[in-house]
Amino acid sequence: MRISGEKLRRMMGFIPPTTFADGVCHLIGAFGNMGVVETDEGLVIFDIAVKPLGPKIFRELRKITDKPVKYIIYSHGHFDHCFGFAPFVEEIKEKGWEMPEIIAHENCIKRFKKYKMLDKYHAWLNKQQFSSIKGIEEVSAKETLDPTIIIRGSEKYTFKLGGLTLELYPEWGETDDAIWLWLPEKNVIFAGDLMVSHFPNVGNPYKVQRYPRHWALALERMLEKNAEYLVPGHGEIIYFKKKVRDVLSVTSEAMNFVHDEVVKKMNEGKWFEQIFHEMLDIFPDKFKKHEYLQPIYGCYEFSIHAVYRLYHGWYNTGNPTDLFPAKSDEIAKEFLNINSEVKYIDHAKLLFNEGKLQLALHILDVVIKGIKGTSLDKIKLLLEAYKLKVKILKRKAESETSFIATNIINNGANTLKPKIKELKEKLKN
Ligand SMILES: [Zn+2]
Repeated sequence: MRISGEKLRRMMGFIPPTTFADGVCHLIGAFGNMGVVETDEGLVIFDIAVKPLGPKIFRELRKITDKPVKYIIYSHGHFDHCFGFAPFVEEIKEKGWEMPEIIAHENCIKRFKKYKMLDKYHAWLNKQQFSSIKGIEEVSAKETLDPTIIIRGSEKYTFKLGGLTLELYPEWGETDDAIWLWLPEKNVIFAGDLMVSHFPNVGNPYKVQRYPRHWALALERMLEKNAEYLVPGHGEIIYFKKKVRDVLSVTSEAMNFVHDEVVKKMNEGKWFEQIFHEMLDIFPDKFKKHEYLQPIYGCYEFSIHAVYRLYHGWYNTGNPTDLFPAKSDEIAKEFLNINSEVKYIDHAKLLFNEGKLQLALHILDVVIKGIKGTSLDKIKLLLEAYKLKVKILKRKAESETSFIATNIINNGANTLKPKIKELKEKLKN
């Protein structure tokens, strides 16, 4: 079941500004929440959104308060949390204010360096992952607002402003540079992406390693605070101690479950495919049905990869055939030497009609990758295979709930469209 576009936008963070905790805290949603702590001595900002939405969050903030920004904290170094700073810096220069302190974890600095090194790659990759969201295209890390206060290792960092205590806790979870903020006098946790109101984005198909077990531990440490308000990195505030406790415990339980079960199966000498399918069979209903664990962005399936990848190399089938594999189109050509394209296409149609979409895709790829020759007959067959593949991918995307998976599938279908057009042109000539 797909959730509506509007609900998805809300969960991503496109929500109206909210003031809470006796008027001391504000949440300004964009793609990436901006948390604001308002004190008599100025503002503390927790995350500053994605670059193209910087002007939007700045305008929203200035409708609420005109106090100067004293601190900016990065919950982690992702593009949707630290890059919307330009209008804030402009204002500081205009008004002749002092630059705020920028607080981040030492691994955030390494992350910014990595982003600069891989600038074009990340632009390309994020364009794919977020292809269905318009207005957040610009993700370059060429310009960063660099940290002035650096938190090292796992050491807690505490400071005071305007009579309020701000405690910062470094963690690993979605990233290795995560920080969450605790306001003991106001019972508020700003969690960054350690809390996202849906299944944690662990095991993202495009991204580097993430840490399910550490993630669970971070949430357990948040639980100890018995907070009244929990502000996620995206989406709406979670209110009331009982609800906050419930959300934190079920999410940490889910992370522990995936971690411990995959580890158990690895210890039983199983390879990835077996582990993956066994994990699908044992996914508990209480997680599957929980409103805060829905596969809206990432999904349970991806998290299985995360754990396996954490402890295992790339040889994951246990089949020596896969150690030095031939090119997949060479393999497909050999299949077509044994059997005709027509038989593969007919069989793919049969599987499609039976609703076996994934198997149909594997069979169609034999034709798409292996077909040889440029005769009219071959062009017709290839065109048929492409068209059927697009149809299957669209059908798959319709029933997919994960934002990332849906974008991957739809992108795949869209890249075939120019090829279909080209083949049609060839047939006309
Ligand atoms: Zn985020």
